[in-house]
Amino acid sequence: MNQTTKSCAIIGAGISGIAAAIRMRNKGYAVTVFEANAFPGGKLSTESNKGYRFDMGPSVFTMPEYVDELFVLSGKNPREHFNYIPLDPVYRYFFEDGTTVDAFHGKEKYAEKISEKLKDSKEDILKYLDKTEEMYELTAEVFLHNSLHKFKNFMTKRVMKGLLNFGKIGAFDTMNGANKKAFKDPKLVQILNRYSTYNGSSPYLAPATLNVISHLEIEKGAFYPIGGMYSITESLVKLAKDIGVTFSFSNPVREILTEGLPNGQSGKKIKGVRTDEGNLNFDVVISNMDVYNSYLKLLPSAKKPEKTLSQPKSSSGIIFYWGIKHNFSQLGLHNIFFSENYEEEFDTIFSKKTIYVDPTIYVNITSKYTATDAPADCENWFTFINVPNNSGQDWDELVNEARETMIKKLNRLLKIDIRPMIECEMILDPRVVEARTSSAFGAIYGNASNNKFAAFMRHPNFSKEIKGLYFCGGSVHPGPSIPLCLLSAKITTGLVS
Ligand SMILES: Cc1cc2nc3c(=O)[nH]c(=O)nc-3n(C[C@H](O)[C@H](O)[C@H](O)COP(=O)(O)OP(=O)(O)OC[C@H]3O[C@@H](n4cnc5c(N)ncnc54)[C@H](O)[C@@H]3O)c2cc1C
Repeated sequence: MNQTTKSCAIIGAGISGIAAAIRMRNKGYAVTVFEANAFPGGKLSTESNKGYRFDMGPSVFTMPEYVDELFVLSGKNPREHFNYIPLDPVYRYFFEDGTTVDAFHGKEKYAEKISEKLKDSKEDILKYLDKTEEMYELTAEVFLHNSLHKFKNFMTKRVMKGLLNFGKIGAFDTMNGANKKAFKDPKLVQILNRYSTYNGSSPYLAPATLNVISHLEIEKGAFYPIGGMYSITESLVKLAKDIGVTFSFSNPVREILTEGLPNGQSGKKIKGVRTDEGNLNFDVVISNMDVYNSYLKLLPSAKKPEKTLSQPKSSSGIIFYWGIKHNFSQLGLHNIFFSENYEEEFDTIFSKKTIYVDPTIYVNITSKYTATDAPADCENWFTFINVPNNSGQDWDELVNEARETMIKKLNRLLKIDIRPMIECEMILDPRVVEARTSSAFGAIYGNASNNKFAAFMRHPNFSKEIKGLYFCGGSVHPGPSIPLCLLSAKITTGLVS
């Protein structure tokens, strides 16, 4: 490990903050992570209730190589510290007319099995999946692996190739528009439209470029971390501590401190952070706090990038974490119960800003893979619907309404009354997201991607005004999700000299 005498403060122990801490330590910095909560992980955390364990946020794990990379960088064999298995099938989809469809791993198997159940041919499905792969290859360098805000990054061969093929990446159609052109069966269109929810957007507004998300899951694969999603946080925090990162929990940063540049130069540079324990000096500060709140709460007198910060925010969620006293053999790890009118569902979320009467429900059950996550013959249900972010709605009323609608829908599709099986309940709604992770308006995924310029409107990984101040995590470039947050940490720390 390189050794410098420089120090770095990371604000927030979300997955991106932890990854940034590991990378900065590997650059030789003395690193302290300040976390407002008493626990690490932010959205990627865990809670238990009456013998049931729940992952509180992310449940679908893709691109595990970005976790492995952090162990390798630190001179360790990832397999001795963190393990995962590939999922096949990945998803089970349920429709109101009784159709169930399993989504398998790998283009060939996915196309073959879906074509047996739905109206589209294996050839057409393969053609579509090849196209999303091509789009991924063209866009990854531009949108995922580099800062979008450094001119020199546009001068590489791979990035130039992506830019020169802009017409091929679907920037001028919506996800739904492209999927409807590709397929006859509305069920397949709905299955593929759902990937817009991975960054909290509407498939009727988001550019078709985002259809690349399906490529990551279908072809590159989805995985289950042994022990559940929280093992990602747990193993990375242990790695960070092992290489000398200091964590300070229950210690929110109250202000980012700045000072003038030396020798009469105009502009500002980082001085340190202020916590309840006082002012602490640091050479570099990386904020993993949502960028909107970083400016609002920690940099009250700094010049703000108003246009970036005022972009519409993503959707949020209502989750019931239910302990279920029953074993459902027809369910897998990831289950989706679709609504009948997807367009109306998204319009209700993004235009009417309320919850839909017949929401698409996602049920995640980790006890299918980790038996100790629930008592014998029971299951731990993470039961999720997409909802608008918090603009002051009556969430107590909406949560009660959602519980009733969701139970009714699940009873209808599973043909059994689940109400008497619910033996314990915890709830997440946008207010909880906001309180627990300081995410602006309780939006789960930062800015929405509901227009073709959204990727360019995410905040850069560095401050243009304050030297030594950087940002990482789901609210800045390249965006939300575990893999993108890990890439965000990589891009951000790559910018620090
Ligand atoms: C319900 C749900 C489902 C999801 N599903 C998936 C999924 O299936 N797959 C996937 O890949 N992604 C999923 N995501 C998205 C993914 O969880 C996030 O994109 C990612 O975890 C965000 O990480 P982050 O590093 O940006 O920080 P966050 O997780 O937002 O954490 C930020 C941390 O900073 C701390 N903090 C904030 N302000 C301060 C301060 N002033 N001082 C100190 N600490 C502070 C907070 O307490 C928090 O711990 C889901 C998210 C949610 C909520």
